[in-house]
Amino acid sequence: MPELPEVETMRRGLTPVLGSRVAEVIRPRCKLRPIEIAPRLSTFRRLVMGRTIAKLDRVGKRVVIELGVNGKHQPDSIVIEPRMTGLVLLAEPPDRAHLRFGLRLEGGPASELWFWDRRGLGSVRLVSAAEFAVRYGLDRVGPDALRISAHELASRLAASRREIKVALLDQRAVAGIGNLYASEILHLAGVHPRRRCNQLRAAEWRAIHDATREVLELAICYEGSTLGDGTYRNALNEAGNYQNHHRVYDRARQPCTRCASSVIERFVQAQRSTFYCPGCQPLGRRQVEK
Ligand SMILES: [Zn+2]
Repeated sequence: MPELPEVETMRRGLTPVLGSRVAEVIRPRCKLRPIEIAPRLSTFRRLVMGRTIAKLDRVGKRVVIELGVNGKHQPDSIVIEPRMTGLVLLAEPPDRAHLRFGLRLEGGPASELWFWDRRGLGSVRLVSAAEFAVRYGLDRVGPDALRISAHELASRLAASRREIKVALLDQRAVAGIGNLYASEILHLAGVHPRRRCNQLRAAEWRAIHDATREVLELAICYEGSTLGDGTYRNALNEAGNYQNHHRVYDRARQPCTRCASSVIERFVQAQRSTFYCPGCQPLGRRQVEK
């Protein structure tokens, strides 16, 4: 958390900064262990100040702020990775104590862009076009979960003996799905999270692909999920609303909203909580004999 829907919501929320110039790069006074900012601030400032924000993109669970070509410069990008608790904001942050990085802007409706991070595991990195291709190329970050085809999803995972829920979290195979949405996707697809990739049938891969798109797109419509800790907020520091539409996530012992005859169960899979409905997501006999 945040996953693809939350990061995509942040990206869309930044639209007012398009066309603005960077007037200052700020590292606010923060008593906590500093987050990773690269290159060092003096170099960052030299390379970024005066440049225009040309494009807003996303690679997996990262926001990409592309700077326009300026004189001899290449189109560099500022890549912000929220990791566990990071937020990209145009509004006042939840508090000042966890403010990590900022841009002062001019020439547009937004005057400040902030990166706030409670746990401080996130990062802000300025990369050239060449470095971007190396760091975030297809061999490091797989195709986006919203753009991958059903065929490609299956071909990237179907030879694996890994359990499908664990495999969906592999960002090199498919980018953007995290622990929360993996459970939601598999419930909609009717596939047990412990099923092994190499034992899934073609129809099940299609169901997983369709469910991926449906769940992620709906979650974006609701501007992501703000869980009980309240951490995730959109760019205007408002809560998301998809948590009110979760099918299984964090609903252990509650009735399944689809079949109504089973209750949602929770178990730990690769050190992460998995939620599923034993009625809607049966584990086949071959899977039991492992
Ligand atoms: Zn069910």
